[in-house]
Amino acid sequence: MTKAELKKNWEKVLELLAESINRNRVDAFFRPLSPSRIREKDSVIMMNCGNSAFFQSSVDRYASDVEKATEAVFGKPYSLLVTDKESDENELDIDQFDPRYTFDTFVAGDNNRLAYAMSMTVAERFDIKHNPLFIYGGSGLGKTHLIQAIGQYVIKENPRKKVIYVSSETFTNEYISSISSRTVDDFRNKYRSADLLLIDDIQFIVGKQETVTEFFNTFNALYNAKKQIVLTSDKLPKDLGDLPERLVSRFAGGMIADIGIPEYETRLAILKRKASVEDVDTDDPDVAAALDLIAQGIQTNIRELESAFTRVLTFSNLEGKKITRDYAKSILTDIYNIKAAEITPQRIKEVVADHFGITPEDIESSKRSREIAYPRQIAIYLSKEKTNYSLEKIASFFGNRNHTTIMYSHKKVREDMERDRDLREVVEKIEEML
Ligand code: ADP
Ligand code: MG
Repeated sequence: MTKAELKKNWEKVLELLAESINRNRVDAFFRPLSPSRIREKDSVIMMNCGNSAFFQSSVDRYASDVEKATEAVFGKPYSLLVTDKESDENELDIDQFDPRYTFDTFVAGDNNRLAYAMSMTVAERFDIKHNPLFIYGGSGLGKTHLIQAIGQYVIKENPRKKVIYVSSETFTNEYISSISSRTVDDFRNKYRSADLLLIDDIQFIVGKQETVTEFFNTFNALYNAKKQIVLTSDKLPKDLGDLPERLVSRFAGGMIADIGIPEYETRLAILKRKASVEDVDTDDPDVAAALDLIAQGIQTNIRELESAFTRVLTFSNLEGKKITRDYAKSILTDIYNIKAAEITPQRIKEVVADHFGITPEDIESSKRSREIAYPRQIAIYLSKEKTNYSLEKIASFFGNRNHTTIMYSHKKVREDMERDRDLREVVEKIEEML
């Protein structure tokens, strides 16, 4: 809904309120407010006014009348949120975003390195060398997260910049409704006033000819005015389908950055971050083993990766059970078809490191102290026993030591185990945890 439409509808709400709480009160408490925007996520109409605290408490007394009147006009009840005029503009801008989608919470990995670096560059320098920045990648791989991170960063660092973020669907809907309410000029002015225009999922615009034309004009206006544009898409420009050639070449004329499928380490890092946000102790070996299972089992979609973890966490809270590898498996098998994860040198390294209170990096390192060398030998022994990996391959997991070192470590642990009962127990315990 455009601001003009909102204003018109608000007048109707005032009329209805006048019937239910009388006109004097409406004039005293409601007239001074001017509606700026609807915030759907919590069904709020944002109202501007000086002395917002006073007016907020006044209108709150008529909350149920407001709900009835707004329901009659908008088809759905709303409450009012009154903010001061000065603070409002920026708040409106930031309000478009999911507060969780910032650069701080984004885990950089090999799969997203270029997209991440380019997004940071655009957000920080705010130059238009890379215009548009076109981020593309499969579903659930972090496109929305990144494009929103750009927007939130710019608003925070440059409060005076006008930032607009929309999905291409919202863009389409707004355009269509501006035609029917004869407010196309408002629509155009809004988008052409942007210093930074962020359009998510541009692929959905394909096939909607009039919207495409309108978008092309907006794009050109901003581009020529040297305003930054960022787009996301699940396809490359050339694969978008039925789009005018000139638009495709515009899309491809800036910087194209892809997001690929994350590697195991990145998946695990994302899960760990998510778990710590939820106050789950990721240093707990049982939890770590559960996260490993999820990171091994879900490889191509981070949204699914996160929701698998959320599901385990929810069940563990409900049932009062501890998060362990087996518990996670029991919760997830039906849905994600998670099989017992393959045993790899990587996994062995992690379990061994956990057991001895050191890190996998210590194991890879060249450190020779006994606290490190001994677990390292055990991890090498298990890697040779439990996997089909070649010596070269195993060596690559242990700081590229040479083959003789791998052979030597294996032989030594095997021999030591024959006479050292404690060692045998340690190795068995670790085997169980795999
Ligand atoms: P897309 O828009 O590509 O479909 P999203 O940006 O919605 O994907 O990402 C899906 C979920 O995965 C979101 O919750 C997002 O925060 C998370 N996510 C994706 N990539 C990362 C990453 N590199 N670091 C942290 N979280 C990520
Ligand atoms: Mg998205």
